[in-house]
Formats: sequence, structure tokens, C-alpha cells
Amino acid sequence: MHYEGNIIRPPSEARSIILQATVGCSHNRCTFCPTYTGVRFRIKDEATLSADIRYAAQAFPGARRLFITDGDALIIPFKRLRQLFLEINEQLPRLTRIGIYASAKSLRRRSLEELNQLREQKLGIIYYGLESGDDVTLAAIDKGTTGEESIALCRKVKAAGIKLSTTVMIGIAGPERSLIHARKTGEVLSAIDPDYVGALITMIAPGTRLEAAERQGQFALPDQRGLLLELKEMITWTNLSKGMFMANHASNYLPIKIHSPAQREAALSMIDAALSGAVPLREEWMRGL
Ligand code: SF4
Repeated sequence: MHYEGNIIRPPSEARSIILQATVGCSHNRCTFCPTYTGVRFRIKDEATLSADIRYAAQAFPGARRLFITDGDALIIPFKRLRQLFLEINEQLPRLTRIGIYASAKSLRRRSLEELNQLREQKLGIIYYGLESGDDVTLAAIDKGTTGEESIALCRKVKAAGIKLSTTVMIGIAGPERSLIHARKTGEVLSAIDPDYVGALITMIAPGTRLEAAERQGQFALPDQRGLLLELKEMITWTNLSKGMFMANHASNYLPIKIHSPAQREAALSMIDAALSGAVPLREEWMRGL
């Protein structure tokens, strides 16, 4: 396979074939994101992609899942994207699901009809970085969208019958706006009602604009207690029909897994117990950063 640069994928795609169809991210402006710093976005040429698909078909003929990178590969113009999906399905007929990352910019370009066509070609899940539902925070991190727009874009994915997984960031609004960010994010998540939510503690990565802001005293993360209070507020304001809300990434101090709405109260009680010191938190060295 012809891989270039940083290849990232969601944890749930650990067993998938990874097909790198684009290099970088067409947005590439989020202040916290170190993944494609300095990488000029481009779509890989058709010959390279065809060779990779043929190789994958020979190496993993029984593969069930395939994941397309990089950062927002859904941005590929529809004609090329449809051709890519046709080729993948032709070479790997046993696939049951194709997954892809999407940004607001890429979802803006996909009509419901196009998403329907991709779903028919086994596009089964889209991963979307919501990060926050608070417009002030979204502007501060240069996400290039608003909470309202994210609701409309994500509802389009759901209307096409494609599963939706969203990530949100704990701590990204800093201490002063922490609880507003939490509440507004919960409200936007409730309006979207995604199939899965993953909450990650913000990591300040070297070389990012967020790190520069921290160095200049313009940004700070909430302290450990503040992060837990933010997570609690976000869960309190989030109402999901299936209720899958995971805050169990290695970066989190307190692993929380909510599989159904019925488990929400227990999760909130666990956070309260952690805030009172009755439940131990992950030590710094145990956090997978
Ligand atoms: S859209 Fe995603 S990949 Fe692109 S810069 Fe933002 S966080 Fe990074």
C-alpha cells in the first residue's frame, strides 16, 4: 500500500483495511490539530489507488471493513468518489462496511442524493469531528463551521441511512467557557442524535496554534476537577436515543462508557464520586498521550 505521512484512523477501524485516498486535510486549520501540519492537501492519483485496491484484494480477500483516509476524504469530487467506491466493491466484494472521515467542508459538498448513492455502495459510517456545539469555541479553534450548521450536515448523514460517529473535546474552551461549551455541545449532540459520541480530553500538541496560544498565556486547559465538571455538564445536557457516549479514550482521567440512556445516571454518579475523591482517577503517566 502506498502510505504517505501520518495515517490516523478511529479506534473502531483497527481491523479495517486502510486505504489512503487523499493526503492531508482540505481544511487543515483547526488550532489543536497536529496531524497534517505543513502537509499540502491532495487527492491521490487513480493509478496509485487502483494498485492499492488490487493489492488489498489479494492480501485480504475476505476483508469485511475498509476505512478511507486522510482527514476528510469525503471531499473528493463525487464522480471520482463514486468511481473509487465502485472499484473497491468490485475488488473486495465481501466488504460489509466502508468508513470515512468527514469535515464540515466536505459534508457541505455532498448532497443527500450523493450520500444515498454512497450508502448503496456500502458507505456505512461517517466520522465527524464536532469538537464543540458552542459557536464562540468553534470560532476560537477555527473549525470552520457553527453548531447549527453541524446539526444540518449531520442530519443529512443520518437521513441517508449512514451511521454517524462524532467526537467532542473536553477542555478545548478553556476554564472560563468550559461549562457553556459543555452545555451547548450537549444541546447540539441531542439535536443531531449521532449513533456514537466519543469525548476526548484536549491534548495540547507541539507545533500547533493551540500550543502557541498556551505559551503566550492566551489559552489554558481547565484543571482536572474542571475537566470532570465539564464532562458531567456535557453528559447532563446530552440526550441520545441510543445513548452511546464514550469518554474512555486513554487521554481521559476517568473512563466513562454509557451504552444506553439508562446508564447515564450511573455515569453521572461515578463522576460525582470521582469529584469527591471516592473513585480514583488515572495517574498522568497512565494516560495514553
Ligand atoms: S478537520 Fe480534522 S483533520 Fe482537518 S484540521 Fe480539523 S481536526 Fe485536523
